[in-house]
Amino acid sequence: MDYVSTRDKTHQVSSAYAIATGIAPDGGLYCPTEFPTLSKADWDALIEADYKGRAVLVLSKFLTDFTKEELQSYAAKAYAPERWGGENTAPVVSLRDGRHILELWHGPTCAFKDMALQMLPHLLTASLRKIGETRTACILVATSGDTGTAALNGFADVPGTKIMVYYPVHGVSPMQKLQMVTQEGKNVSVCAVDGNFDDAQSALKRIFTDTPTIDKLSAQGMLLSSANSINWGRLAPQIAYYISAYCDLAARGMVEFGNEINICVPTGNFGNILAAYIAKQMSLPVHKLICASNRNNVLTDFFRSGSYDKNRPFFTTASPSMDILISSNLERLLFYISGQNDEAVRGLMAQLAHGGKYTVSRELREQLDALFDAGSCDDAETAATIRALFEDEKYLCDTHTAVAVKAYDDYRARTGDHTPTVIASTASPFKFCKSVAEALGGKVEREDVSQLEVLHGLTGAEPPKPLASLAGKQPRFDRVVGKEDILATTSLLAEL
Ligand SMILES: *Cc1c(COP(=O)(O)O)cnc(C)c1O
Repeated sequence: MDYVSTRDKTHQVSSAYAIATGIAPDGGLYCPTEFPTLSKADWDALIEADYKGRAVLVLSKFLTDFTKEELQSYAAKAYAPERWGGENTAPVVSLRDGRHILELWHGPTCAFKDMALQMLPHLLTASLRKIGETRTACILVATSGDTGTAALNGFADVPGTKIMVYYPVHGVSPMQKLQMVTQEGKNVSVCAVDGNFDDAQSALKRIFTDTPTIDKLSAQGMLLSSANSINWGRLAPQIAYYISAYCDLAARGMVEFGNEINICVPTGNFGNILAAYIAKQMSLPVHKLICASNRNNVLTDFFRSGSYDKNRPFFTTASPSMDILISSNLERLLFYISGQNDEAVRGLMAQLAHGGKYTVSRELREQLDALFDAGSCDDAETAATIRALFEDEKYLCDTHTAVAVKAYDDYRARTGDHTPTVIASTASPFKFCKSVAEALGGKVEREDVSQLEVLHGLTGAEPPKPLASLAGKQPRFDRVVGKEDILATTSLLAEL
């Protein structure tokens, strides 16, 4: 299978090259030129398989320069039961009203980013080998909180790699910060940025295409790469869990095999919901993809109006991993729905870079309308949703998941569509402990590990081990840089 840049289709590479380098030299994102479809025999095998087997089958369709044995050995390590609190990597919990919660946060850092970032180090180091690359891969990560923790955990002490994470100094939850600044490993570093996620992501995208920096690092034996969802190696493993959820629902008789579901995803950089779109293109029966946003509702406005406009106030919310105004992976969706029209994508992205906005054509808009619905809510509605779910169904969810539940409930009320719906649950409620406890009427006084006990006391739920074990760990990183100084911090890579 070939991969091309969204901004230049003549730039064609292998899956290993796309994963090793992360982003195309023209600033575009690598995309497969076709979507493999799942045959009847594939579906039969998927239904029988465990999560690892499902992941391997889906990945093998896209990563054609990897053998099945290679993918099996990576999946065995990435989804080992001891890292996921059991065999069921991505369990589905069915609630009332046809709502099925797909829990993606049972991994080592308690957010869905682990689903891909436990796999990516294996894919990336093998990709480097396959393309004959001997330089050390330096992974730069911009994070709204969860990618940073998951990438640090996945890459810590992985030979042949170094990793630097940039997080917004005022834009992450206390637990997220604690996880990042206490991360162990000789090859890791963490930097707070005096700015927001978009500032960090934009700075990194510029660094990835900045020839003087690339050359300087190369002379020191280093190669830049990305662990953000701009890297295809991040997206590919995410496709599998939507297919897995459908298999589970069909096996339990919750949907008849072949019938449609909706999928509702709390969205920031548009990676997770794009994976659901790709699953649909592979033959997963999906009626609507519902894109849920918090008060930073640039995507809701886009799906309603056809105009993307990032010129608006940026809000810090209780669902910080979605505090994003530039959703990078939307570029991949535009590429596909335009029939892989790289020229059109180049034009739209140039408008976004210069004026901060663009409007899609009527043809594209019709396609978006057929595929997607969208909704958003503010922090008060998020808190009310957490409370209602806990009171009515004894189900405890985090702030991001609550945004999706609210967007879905609004969608169903507005459209009367009762198709069974998979709602992606993207983080453990304990990771956003303070907001969740306060939504339930509790009070968190201290921003340290003791907040886990507050939520435990309110709900009886057990804090996940990886969070409880942060108690007593010493912070290792306290650097704060201005957003203009991110480029200069790449000189620190040589010291790791
Ligand atoms: C990253 C993240 C999101 C947003 O996912 P995208 O792929 O960026 O759209 C939602 N919820 C949580 C908890 C996250 O960590």
